[in-house]
Amino acid sequence: MPSSSLSHRKSAVTKALLKWYRKNARPSPWRKTRHPYRILVSEIMLQQTQVDRVEQKYPLFLRRFPTFQSLARARTADVIRAWAGMGYNNRAIHLQKTAQRVVEKYRGRLPGDIEALQQFPGIGRYTANAVACFAFGQHTAVVDTNVRRVLSRLFPKQSRSMDEWDLAEWILPKRKAYDWNQALMELGGTFCTHRNPNCSGCPLHRHCMSAFKIKKIGKPIPAKPRKAIPDRIYRGRIVSILRNIDHHRSMESLRLAAMINPGFRSIEKKWFDSLLQRLQRDGLILMRRRQKKLMISLPK
Ligand code: SF4
Repeated sequence: MPSSSLSHRKSAVTKALLKWYRKNARPSPWRKTRHPYRILVSEIMLQQTQVDRVEQKYPLFLRRFPTFQSLARARTADVIRAWAGMGYNNRAIHLQKTAQRVVEKYRGRLPGDIEALQQFPGIGRYTANAVACFAFGQHTAVVDTNVRRVLSRLFPKQSRSMDEWDLAEWILPKRKAYDWNQALMELGGTFCTHRNPNCSGCPLHRHCMSAFKIKKIGKPIPAKPRKAIPDRIYRGRIVSILRNIDHHRSMESLRLAAMINPGFRSIEKKWFDSLLQRLQRDGLILMRRRQKKLMISLPK
């Protein structure tokens, strides 16, 4: 394609997507704020949890911990409890450690610099760029799974020859980086989905090189027998049980093992012990010996 027609298509995509976003943006609560703490909490929550679920939990979490200071000084057990229903509890620990560092090192103000942001626990390149753009108004691209997929479908040739971040910077319009990034992510979560892109309803179908060409993928048929339950599910079950027992109480480890896996056998003890050790190392539980019994609780 000649470069003039490529730049024409780029500008047509920009106009069409921004126009669509202006009219159809979902009124999510994190789009009504530019406060760095609130944006950071939303981005950490959205990393691995569905938007609908985050929309429910986000206001409750902010009511409980409205500032970096309140989160930093909270009991870790209470932060883990407030994270209930979100999954991947490590994120709650990372968020609290970040809050503590922001309070101690930056007097409670999150730095807006992308490199500095990436030094905090649980903040990778995507989250750092998202916070820099959405909270600090920086003109920068963001690349998550939705953006990656949408751009590779809109510009398949360029996506084969360019790094995904370079591609995102290349298509980023000169103005309105916030709206543009939000719009790309929203398009990827609504029309341009992984399994069933809805090209006929998509605002970009006239400008997209892959329109109506993506083979829809039905429900995956498991080719192999179901895999064993992954450890992260057991980790989640352990934290969830501990979350629901009274404050200051703990549970004997073998009882906990039987609760997360009713068929627990003594030969699985080694596996279970290493699961507990990893949880303790991640700051999600506390293990203590009491009268020869191993007692488990949430951290204090
Ligand atoms: S036209 Fe289809 S493939 Fe292209 S961006 Fe829209 S939904 Fe995705």
